[in-house]
Amino acid sequence: MNSTSATPYYGHIVPYYPPQPTKLVSAPTGTRIKKFFQMLVAAAIVGGVIIGIGVNSELNWLIWTGAGVGLLFLVAGIYTVMTLQLGTCPYCHQEIGRSSDFNLTSVDDNDQIECNICTNWLISHKGDIRAYTKSDVKSDTEFKCKVMERSTWPRECLVCGAPPTRYLELKNTKLHAGKLLVGHLSVSWGRLQNAPYCDLHADAVKLKVDDKKMFLIFPEYEMMKRYQHVNYHLFMTGQQL
Ligand SMILES: [Zn+2]
Ligand SMILES: [Zn+2]
Repeated sequence: MNSTSATPYYGHIVPYYPPQPTKLVSAPTGTRIKKFFQMLVAAAIVGGVIIGIGVNSELNWLIWTGAGVGLLFLVAGIYTVMTLQLGTCPYCHQEIGRSSDFNLTSVDDNDQIECNICTNWLISHKGDIRAYTKSDVKSDTEFKCKVMERSTWPRECLVCGAPPTRYLELKNTKLHAGKLLVGHLSVSWGRLQNAPYCDLHADAVKLKVDDKKMFLIFPEYEMMKRYQHVNYHLFMTGQQL
């Protein structure tokens, strides 16, 4: 897909992949009720907006469309509540699925998800949660990784693993001037310092601020995985690799 996908790696980071998947368990009633009301609100908002436009413009078909869309959301909500499961991250062993924007179910079919705690990529498949591996990469996969609160860089060039000779600053190029004035999103939030590179490599990794969270966009999977591993290791052990 891209010209850098065959970059040779000379470093020492060997990413960990948990050998065993974890099992999904049935979600408690409280979580089901909460998710149901979230979807009920979504049904009311989406359906209501379409119905509202239909009423204003006196278009009967639009009113019926709105009602239909609302009903679809409701059916999806009921289905989710019936099938909702919770999982355990095979990396950090924390619960996943309760407050996430995705719903885990036992009929998931190789669905890509991400642990909210340790940011490792995972696959939910028919009742199991397992590590996302290189063989799960698709041609349109974006290697976008959330920057953890206490994040760190590898002690080597991000691209090839050679000893770093320079440390570059990443800036979020898509940060609009208007956004800078709003809330807590300051200029410093659109910036990450000390990205390690060798003489041959630079600017392979891009910074993106999305919904007040920072993400790194990597050009290839294994580069991202090494970054995730270094941060996973720091998170679990308190030690910099
Ligand atoms: Zn995790
Ligand atoms: Zn390099």
